[in-house]
Amino acid sequence: AKAEGGNGMHFFNPELAAAAERRRQLENDLRMAIREEQFVLFFQPIVDLLESRISGAEVLIRWNHPQRGLVSPNEFIPLAEDTGLIIDIGLWALEASGRQLARWRTEGRELSLSLNVSGRQIPAGLPVEVLRDALYRLGFRSEFLALEITEGVLLDDVEGALNWLTAVRSQGFSIYLDDFGTGYSSLSYLKRFPVDRLKVDRSFVRDIDKDPSDRALVEAIVAMARSLSLEVVAEGVEEAEHVRLLHAMGCRYLQGFYFSPPVPLETFDDIHDQLPDM
Ligand code: C2E
Ligand code: CA
Ligand code: CA
Ligand code: CA
Repeated sequence: AKAEGGNGMHFFNPELAAAAERRRQLENDLRMAIREEQFVLFFQPIVDLLESRISGAEVLIRWNHPQRGLVSPNEFIPLAEDTGLIIDIGLWALEASGRQLARWRTEGRELSLSLNVSGRQIPAGLPVEVLRDALYRLGFRSEFLALEITEGVLLDDVEGALNWLTAVRSQGFSIYLDDFGTGYSSLSYLKRFPVDRLKVDRSFVRDIDKDPSDRALVEAIVAMARSLSLEVVAEGVEEAEHVRLLHAMGCRYLQGFYFSPPVPLETFDDIHDQLPDM
């Protein structure tokens, strides 16, 4: 019985092998997707409470897979990061966002976009020269493009990240600190790293109507941001009560399903002139 095929042994595990095979397949598909530009951008409105208008959108990538249809970034961004493919995907997303900003500019619409940037892209995968080149080649204005980074990005290579941030901001691009509050070193990092906006993670926003400590936390973030001259975007706004509370706290920008999920460009173009339902 001892010699029998692998029971309790680690030599061959069919489930692990199948997972590895799926991963290999996904990686091949992803390489193909980059070559054939199978990605699309979705746009989720960001509402400016001060001006009572949609001031722009966060750009969220989708993979239009030939067999599987629209694939969520949660399913392929981690693999793209592991394999380094995120760098080419990121360049494509920059190009597509820049083209859209240039289009709006010729139409006389003042809309800004914010683009997600992974740690793998900073600093060498998305150098400031590439951003500057996109700017001049496509003809949009840097003040309308923000780059969303998470504070984790800043931990790996503090020096490199700091230089990148400084160079990017000196070209007029904005930096949003994404998923703010989920890291552990937020406060000290805010002092060290030059950023323009904090995006309060939706895990804190979700229960502000029910949980007094979440409410106090968001209130404290807004107050702290104000004292540092930073703007705040609340993510994951799903209910009228969220809007009311965040407005009362003095949070200027809101984003979430209450206003709109991420939508394709045609839909965003239809809604962005409208006053959001508040
Ligand atoms: P994220 O940057 O935190 O993006 C916000 C996510 O929250 C989006 O998921 C959005 O659809 C979702 N969301 C927005 N409002 C609400 C709400 O009210 N309630 C709930 N429950 N969810 C809401 P999505 O589009 O699936 O993106 C997931 C993540 O994938 C993003 O998280 C971001 O980290 C990453 N990602 C998306 N596009 C890109 C990209 O172009 N480049 C990189 N590097 N990462 C990207
Ligand atoms: Ca984001
Ligand atoms: Ca976020
Ligand atoms: Ca609720």
